[in-house]
Amino acid sequence: MSSPERQKALKGMKDVLPPDIYLWQKVERTASELFSAYGFREMRTPVAEATAVFSRGIGEGTDIVEKEMYTFEDKGGRSITLRPEGTASAVRCFVENQLHTLPSPQKYYYLGPMFRYERPQSGRYRQFYQIGAEVFGSAAPAVDAEVMSMLRHFLMRLGLGSLNFQVNSIGCEECRPGYKQALLAYFAPVTGDLCPDCQRRYLHNPLRILDCKVRRCIELRKDAPRVTEHLCTGCEAHFRKLLDLLKLLNVPYTVNHEMVRGLDYYTRTTFEVTSEDLGAQNAVTAGGRYDNLVRNCGGPDTPAFGFATGIERIVDLLKQTLLPPEPAPAIFIAALGEQAHDAAMVIADGLREEHIWVELGEPAASLKSQMRKADRLSSEYVFILGDDELNSGLISWKRLSDGTAGKVSRADVGSFLSGRR
Ligand code: ATP
Ligand code: MG
Repeated sequence: MSSPERQKALKGMKDVLPPDIYLWQKVERTASELFSAYGFREMRTPVAEATAVFSRGIGEGTDIVEKEMYTFEDKGGRSITLRPEGTASAVRCFVENQLHTLPSPQKYYYLGPMFRYERPQSGRYRQFYQIGAEVFGSAAPAVDAEVMSMLRHFLMRLGLGSLNFQVNSIGCEECRPGYKQALLAYFAPVTGDLCPDCQRRYLHNPLRILDCKVRRCIELRKDAPRVTEHLCTGCEAHFRKLLDLLKLLNVPYTVNHEMVRGLDYYTRTTFEVTSEDLGAQNAVTAGGRYDNLVRNCGGPDTPAFGFATGIERIVDLLKQTLLPPEPAPAIFIAALGEQAHDAAMVIADGLREEHIWVELGEPAASLKSQMRKADRLSSEYVFILGDDELNSGLISWKRLSDGTAGKVSRADVGSFLSGRR
């Protein structure tokens, strides 16, 4: 008989195991606790949607829709896509569930896996996780500032203080066409010198030339007109107020005139949080305002603002300064004999109900091997339960860190720990 074939996880997808998982849980817990204080509630949407949710929402000409989506036909012949990001799904959910009928603004956060068919490399996966937040129903710059400040507190609470907030405004339907014209006029004499991607962008989405990483394109755009010099009065006032509020809330920002973001749906504010400690994939969070997306997806006119942050990149940063914690049991019960093991199970059951982590030795294992196991698990205490203990009702305990030992009556086991820790 041939030996069974061993399967591997798909390229760009990975298992997350202890101890790293404790950092993941910390990130997720911090987000849900802090975001709740800002009035955000969780929204869970399916990981798969009709392809149109993303192609219309994110935009046909974007990298994500053109190259990165996991799209397939289901058995009923429908085109299905695994979500590459959260905003388009959140908007679909908002419209479908008529959440605009609830008091404005509506604030939601989400977390979960996203899928993009990209070239896997450090910090770039095909299944990765995002935590995101979206505010629906307010056009006020106060919302942009409040959400960015929330994000800063989230990152600071995780101990990630030295991050850069880069902010820009890419205008609206009213002023962006004029800016596009100015850009086209600027690049017209040099289109032949742009990289092939930018030559395409020149025709379809000239703003994206501004964030091309090719050195020649960077040189060519040195004197390009700045979007913030072409904003209409409304966009200009929005941007000024946002910067004032960021200052007031101590969000350290720099204005980056070249940050236009790769998604079509943004209007006015765009922002990114980057870290120098991440190497090539240095973006931790990205977001911005999308005042037309809900309407474009069949909902009522609803201005909105949101961001998404990649959990892998946050965990990578945390691991640079923090060893993932290795939690240990509070009590290991070494039981000698079947009767003692039965009694140990009852004691463990009661303690676990109180959320105390208790481990039990293998039934019938020797005291020596059970002590070895307690040691390996770094249990705080070992309880020893043998015939003597069963008869007297007094359990022997030992603290492994300093070797102190004593006895505790079975009835007092519950209060034993709270008194000793
Ligand atoms: P990048 O410039 O790294 O390609 P992006 O502009 O595609 O990022 P967004 O779509 O705005 O990123 O997603 C927001 C965040 O999600 C990023 O800042 C990053 O932390 C994370 N992210 C995006 N794509 C990936 C991926 N393939 N693997 C891991 N994390 C990712
Ligand atoms: Mg990308």
